[in-house]
Amino acid sequence: MNSLKKGSLCLICKTKGTKKEADIYLPAYRLPICKEHYLDWVVRRVEETIKEFRMIKRDDRILVAVSGGKDSLALWDILVKLGYEADGFYINLGIGEYSEDSKELAIKFSKEINRTLHIISLKDELLPIPKLKEKFNKPTCSVCGTVKRYYMNKKAKELGYNVLATGHNLDDEVAVLFKNVLTWDINYLSRQYPVLEEEDGFVRKVKPLCRMSEKEMALYSFFRGIEYIEYECPFAEGASTIETKKFISALEEKSPGMKLQFYNSFLKRVYPLMKDKDQKVILKSCKICGEPSVNDTCSVCNMKLKIEDYTKS
Ligand code: SF4
Ligand code: ZN
Repeated sequence: MNSLKKGSLCLICKTKGTKKEADIYLPAYRLPICKEHYLDWVVRRVEETIKEFRMIKRDDRILVAVSGGKDSLALWDILVKLGYEADGFYINLGIGEYSEDSKELAIKFSKEINRTLHIISLKDELLPIPKLKEKFNKPTCSVCGTVKRYYMNKKAKELGYNVLATGHNLDDEVAVLFKNVLTWDINYLSRQYPVLEEEDGFVRKVKPLCRMSEKEMALYSFFRGIEYIEYECPFAEGASTIETKKFISALEEKSPGMKLQFYNSFLKRVYPLMKDKDQKVILKSCKICGEPSVNDTCSVCNMKLKIEDYTKS
């Protein structure tokens, strides 16, 4: 995006018979483009992805998992622009200033686009992430991921939404794909698809930004004037995905378009061979909350039980 030659004209303006200086250059597409056309280009690309993977139907009710970051807010903005019934869902993880700042930004944005933002707080539902980290001897992000997935699915159903949309971008997907390929984790690979259909108590999950890079989304938010949380969660430091992303970005720098090609080729050539290869886990309903679970009691209810034991002792 940084190699825009001085005086380059926007290619889209050119095709429409007008002349306007480009604001950025997209190396993966060899496209110099102006700000206005860039915003529209992103919306159209996301629309194409939604259509290609049949992610959303017109009458679906969508809940967007909003973290206050650029991807989730931009995704919400784009879905609303495309005319979908999309509301937001924010989980206050109780991670100090980070959670407070991101919550404020999510609320502010919901007002700007005039859509409902549902908010729950882990303090009321379970325990804030830093306390969970203290009590359970597991990596913070893994506990946080389990808890977020649980409440997103549970609340989506309770609130009457049938689709859960998350802001995972191309860099996120490629980083996970890369790790799963390094370990040849067939089970994960067989489920790494941008749509997971509704089944066994899970609502449909979709990732409409799966073909948009992190930089492209940051630029969309910037041009669109979306205010988002610009610093990382304090627990993100050292997360191995960050290292993988740096490595992949270095490769992309050398061969623009490599990330997209890697991901598209997986979806087209490898995923169809993998998709039925996972060892189907028979899910039960948690005997306490009724959510899908591998065991009689789900992981979140187990955490709750352990927390009650701690409080009693
Ligand atoms: Fe949760 Fe880890 Fe993400 Fe922080 S970085 S929000 S702890 S998953
Ligand atoms: Zn449960």
